[in-house]
Amino acid sequence: MNLIGEHTDYNDGFVLPFAIDFGCTAEVRRNDDATVRITSAQRQDTVTIPLADLAPGAGDWAAYAAGVLWTLRERGVEIGGVDIGLDSTVPSGAGLSSSAAVVCSVTAALEELFDAGLDAGDLLAVSRRAENDFVGAPTGGMDQLASLRATEGHALFCDMRTLDVEQVPFDVAADGLAVLVLDSGAEHRHADGEYAARRSGCERAARILGVDALRDLTPGELDGALARLPDDELRRYVRHVVTEDERVLQTVAMLRDGRIRDVGPVLIASHASMRDDYRITIPEIDLAAQTLVDGGAYGARMTGGGFGGCVIALLDENAVDGAVEAVRTAYAAAGFNEPTPMVVRPGRGAYRR
Ligand code: ADP
Ligand code: MG
Repeated sequence: MNLIGEHTDYNDGFVLPFAIDFGCTAEVRRNDDATVRITSAQRQDTVTIPLADLAPGAGDWAAYAAGVLWTLRERGVEIGGVDIGLDSTVPSGAGLSSSAAVVCSVTAALEELFDAGLDAGDLLAVSRRAENDFVGAPTGGMDQLASLRATEGHALFCDMRTLDVEQVPFDVAADGLAVLVLDSGAEHRHADGEYAARRSGCERAARILGVDALRDLTPGELDGALARLPDDELRRYVRHVVTEDERVLQTVAMLRDGRIRDVGPVLIASHASMRDDYRITIPEIDLAAQTLVDGGAYGARMTGGGFGGCVIALLDENAVDGAVEAVRTAYAAAGFNEPTPMVVRPGRGAYRR
């Protein structure tokens, strides 16, 4: 789950995700059948693929797990037949990266089983490639980084250019705080096209401005850069990305200092930037964020790629029930579907060393 830093990843920028205390367990065992057999406690059927047929496109729902095995083989790891059993508490398709939970747990497990000798960077590359090249899902790597490297009570400050990470203290419970996530259940039909438009818009703006990526613009250079852009759309995109990178850095500085509550206004500013400049929110999401802040949350913002999904809020532990009730009431009045609340804690990822 991303605390802050939205749509900065493909601009080589900064993100600050954490792993939630949900997870996927992958049990792996060699077999002598030269096949991969995949089961899941959340699925009825067993997916069986002969190793000879293991190629992108295979695997149905099990493609995420099968893709890890394929990627390891592509990298020259000597694999064999294997049974993989999955059991996950991460809700699927709710914007909580259940797919990253699957690929990262399977990557960590198979790495051990086949004694592949991979370091943290390799594990990231394998999990990403399984999703990108085997499944064909264009993810930017943040989900996998958090699912592998996050540790309990911390957020993971990631530089998406270098892929360097730093553990930043984010022990909300120790401060009497809670992280509330509200799944709006809403989804925008054209999300893929909207995402692609922003991504190419950012690339076009970077070219016009003569930088490798928007990450290379500092806040001090922003006004000058905006003046050189040809249209309002690109100006809005650039303003969001440059200010969002800065907000990630501000948040990291506050968390390093143990000032968790101070992060609230930064989350609120991030939401406003996504709503007004990047324009990736929808009415359900805006209403939840606003209602949470009006109801006393320190801050609230949409988390994830946008056009639906979840809102994340930071609030006092004893304010959670009232906040959830306030959003339910506001949603009912607006005629929106009932939102799903979850209280999450910063948990640990799959990487152990
Ligand atoms: P999300 O936002 O949850 O990552 P995705 O569409 O990227 O949504 O990933 C969901 C897919 O991940 C499922 O369709 C399935 O293929 C796989 N998956 C997730 N959880 C499980 C599970 N418990 N068992 C089997 N497959 C799972
Ligand atoms: Mg996913």
